[in-house]
Amino acid sequence: MWRSRLFRRFFTIFFALIALSSLLLFSLFSTRLETLVTQQVRQRLQSVAVMTAVHVQHIYPNLSDESFYKELRQMQSALKVRIRIYNSQKKLIVDSESEIIPDQALSQEAQNFLAVTGLGTSTETSKEFGKDLILYKNQIGNADDPQGYVLSSLPSSSYETDLETAQRLILTIIITTSIIAILVTYLLVSRIVRSLEMLKTGAERVTEGIFDQELNVESRDELESLADSFNQMSSQLKNRIARLNDQKLDIQEGSERLRTVLGAMIEGVIAVDENQRILFANRAALNIFEINNRDYINRQLVEAVRHPGVLDVVDEVLHRRRLLSVEIEIPRKDIVLSVIASRLPGEPASGVVMVFHDMTELRRLENVRREFVSNVSHELKTPLASIQAYTDTLLEGGLEDSSINRKFLERIDEQAERLHMLIVDVIKIAQVESGQEMFDMKAINLNDIAYESVQDHQAIAESKQITLHVIPADEAEPVMVHADTDGLRTIFDNLLDNALKYTLERGRVEVRWTVDNNRVFLSISDTGLGIPPEHLGRIFERFYRVDKARSREMGGTGLGLSIVKHLAQVFGGSIQVESVQGEGTIFTVELLRA
Ligand code: ADP
Repeated sequence: MWRSRLFRRFFTIFFALIALSSLLLFSLFSTRLETLVTQQVRQRLQSVAVMTAVHVQHIYPNLSDESFYKELRQMQSALKVRIRIYNSQKKLIVDSESEIIPDQALSQEAQNFLAVTGLGTSTETSKEFGKDLILYKNQIGNADDPQGYVLSSLPSSSYETDLETAQRLILTIIITTSIIAILVTYLLVSRIVRSLEMLKTGAERVTEGIFDQELNVESRDELESLADSFNQMSSQLKNRIARLNDQKLDIQEGSERLRTVLGAMIEGVIAVDENQRILFANRAALNIFEINNRDYINRQLVEAVRHPGVLDVVDEVLHRRRLLSVEIEIPRKDIVLSVIASRLPGEPASGVVMVFHDMTELRRLENVRREFVSNVSHELKTPLASIQAYTDTLLEGGLEDSSINRKFLERIDEQAERLHMLIVDVIKIAQVESGQEMFDMKAINLNDIAYESVQDHQAIAESKQITLHVIPADEAEPVMVHADTDGLRTIFDNLLDNALKYTLERGRVEVRWTVDNNRVFLSISDTGLGIPPEHLGRIFERFYRVDKARSREMGGTGLGLSIVKHLAQVFGGSIQVESVQGEGTIFTVELLRA
């Protein structure tokens, strides 16, 4: 308990107060007691002196009488007062204490004391009057002409002992009371301090996060209700913190989920605060703007994204418009981004969130579509124009001209056939590219399709005296590929058509396939015109032809290879071309073995 500063302070103060008040009480009581006792003694002396003087007056001067002396003795033993009587010459004539009176004159000082008129006390002359400390004198008879003097006195020791006894009693009472008071103080203060210590420890445990505690202060006063309030507070705090922790977990889970979703988005997302400092950026955004610095959070947007268009968007949304949707170009990366920016809640705005969508592919596809439409229109225009021209000529009289009418009608038929082929190819490529064509993917016997296709082209080959050969894979079993039957036929037809188309008479066309693990390599080679190297990279593009006029002349649409390439890709494979101008071309289609 002594270690507690509060206890030491309280106890010391109370102790000091008790000690001080005891001291004060004691000095007050003892002074008062002394005064009272002295007053009483004086009163007694005075009464004795006065009464003796009155009594002596009647018998004066016959004082040497035995009976008078006895009376004085009795008075002395009853009242403990010594009585001395002096004659008018201030000579001692009777003494209650001794029958024998010494023949001794009083000192001048003592005589003066007796001579003073009226009643009086003096301690000045105590030396003269022996060990009597308190004296009282009275004149006998007339005060102006006294017949003698009575002196009553008391040895101070006689009442001083009583006084001391009384004082000791007071002191004992005060000390006992003080000790009891100190003990009670000790108990009270230590109980208060113990309760406070308990509360302090409890509060410390609360700050450490320990709420499961019950403080028991056993006193039916404010301290107990304080402990009760503390217990209530700590249990409420415990519930509240548990609730907060649950909420924190929910928020953490939510934000984790949000982060995962935003991270997996293809669109870039960047959020900035009102001072344009980055609050969040997902992986896609980091890739788009090539933000490599890991601690981009809380950095100024301008430091991470150096594109003025983005900064303008943020500025616009922060200060003027709540929502903005624009397209911006990043020339450095040659990409087009669509940006949707919206203000974060709060007034003034607490920030901006931006979603970036890469529009480059969409724009490219739009361009391709536009190009495709214009190419198709252009391709359609030529045969239509021819048909129109022939028809006009026939209508303007050519029909009757037997030398040209048949020829013109044949040309019209040719152009109509071209138109038909073109439309069939356009529909085909549109279907393959858009994914509308439903392919029935299954294991197909490559040998069967190859022989059938070659058989179909045999007649054309023979018409050009071209040797058309099939060299199957060196396998015991027929090779099966994973494809759609019609699609595989289209591949064969287009490649064989081209090979025969672009090979001069007496040339050679070979169809062969080999197997490598789970892959099948189908190649169709010819000894034809070959393709100049600068065109090799583009022949799979739609409507691309090395020699437009020759291709048209041969009934080509420029879509064949494009369709083959798409089909090969749909079947999980690819197509390659090798060619030497003037020597020949090899197209190799890679397919999956079933
Ligand atoms: P086309 O209908 O014009 O043949 P394709 O898409 O089938 O269109 O072929 C594109 C172009 O590739 C052709 O115009 C032709 O110039 C070239 N080409 C295709 N196959 C061969 C080949 N076997 N030999 C030489 N050139 C070829």
